[in-house]
Amino acid sequence: MPKFESKEYDVVVCGAGPAGLMAACTYGRLTGGAGRVLLLDKKEPWKEPIFCAEAVSTGRLNALWPISKEWVRGGISGIYFTSPKGYRAEFYSKDCGSMLDRSRFHHALADGCVEAGVECHFDALVTNLSRDGDSWLVQSMTGGELSTVRAKAVIDATGPGCRLTRNVDCLKGIESGDTDLEPAIFAVTEGIKHSREHIELFFGSEFPNGYGWIFPRDGVEVNVGFVLGKDHDTPIPLRQKLLEFINRRYPGAKVKAVYGGMIACGQSKRPLAMHGVFKAGDAASCVNPISRSGIVESILCGKIVAESVVEWLACGTDAERSRVEASVLDRWMKAQGRAHLQIANAKPTFGKISDAQFDRAAEKLSRIPQGKASLWRIFFTVLSACPSLIWKMRSFLR
Ligand SMILES: Cc1cc2nc3c(=O)[nH]c(=O)nc-3n(C[C@H](O)[C@H](O)[C@H](O)COP(=O)(O)OP(=O)(O)OC[C@H]3O[C@@H](n4cnc5c(N)ncnc54)[C@H](O)[C@@H]3O)c2cc1C
Repeated sequence: MPKFESKEYDVVVCGAGPAGLMAACTYGRLTGGAGRVLLLDKKEPWKEPIFCAEAVSTGRLNALWPISKEWVRGGISGIYFTSPKGYRAEFYSKDCGSMLDRSRFHHALADGCVEAGVECHFDALVTNLSRDGDSWLVQSMTGGELSTVRAKAVIDATGPGCRLTRNVDCLKGIESGDTDLEPAIFAVTEGIKHSREHIELFFGSEFPNGYGWIFPRDGVEVNVGFVLGKDHDTPIPLRQKLLEFINRRYPGAKVKAVYGGMIACGQSKRPLAMHGVFKAGDAASCVNPISRSGIVESILCGKIVAESVVEWLACGTDAERSRVEASVLDRWMKAQGRAHLQIANAKPTFGKISDAQFDRAAEKLSRIPQGKASLWRIFFTVLSACPSLIWKMRSFLR
């Protein structure tokens, strides 16, 4: 009995994270269920653990996928910025963001896919992609059995550092999703007293070119972790570094599990589509280079890519198809990528702030009454505490 409903599809979406789910759902909706679209993932998208701290901008997510309390753990109304010496500044805003239950969120997106007529298989590891005439052969493995389907277009949403397209000769120029891969690690921990409405960020030389964090989960557990710059040079393994950080700051806290992953943080200018293969999400390196947020970015990218695929499939000539393929990067750049390139310019400057400067700025900011620390006030207070930053920031302002 054939595993898939068909042997031929208009589009096969590989990977059912936020990017792939949104791409498949958008494509299904835009074609009114008439487009033949197959979504493949090696695991159920709601299967835990999902390697993520689960914080998002409420407004930006809501504009793309209406927020539901079914899959939100809670709202964030403040951010603590904590310096190496432990000075703590608070940025307060009624609506800083939301903490997702990503597993449930993925479930909601997958329900959207099914409603939009997407054929979903969440037990299919995509093992190979090869060109055959004008179409693609997508090979996948389920339960020890190999299957191959033919697709006019493929969306690669398999996350950072994906290997799917790496060995395909005609795709050598496409974005590889391995730009500036940065390591991130976190522990689900109990026994840390932490406000459910705040996230806390730790800065300084302990986290070179990155930052540490505490993100609330359910009022009992918190997510404690850090991300480091790609050229980090830590003398001890990351897991040990994290456990030492937790033990030192929160003696008695109980670590329940530790997870890690890579974040593709470098916005590049490489094409996002070629010969009918389209990249979305982390596979397209669309993560914010400083905050490292990638959930909303992947959803936005998945949507842009699906809209482009619909246009691409309607093209009558190779020249038209090439034009649509070239336009995907432009669309992404206009929506988000240009801002990411600018942020990426500022990143080296951020990495040069010394511990003393962080302490000075956080100490000054900690004296501002709650609710009065606007982002501009924070910005200027930081500059006044670290005047050398103005000079260092010239590349960002250029
Ligand atoms: C530790 C950590 C913390 C983070 N915290 C945040 C945060 O708080 N907020 C935020 O916005 N972002 C955060 N991010 C980034 C965010 O998780 C990613 O940017 C986002 O998940 C990217 O979505 P995606 O769909 O592109 O890829 P993914 O979520 O990685 O999904 C890729 C999917 O492809 C599947 N797949 C891979 N290979 C194959 C294959 N060969 N065959 C079939 N399926 C395959 C995988 O199973 C997976 O389901 C964090 C990342 C890490 C590592």
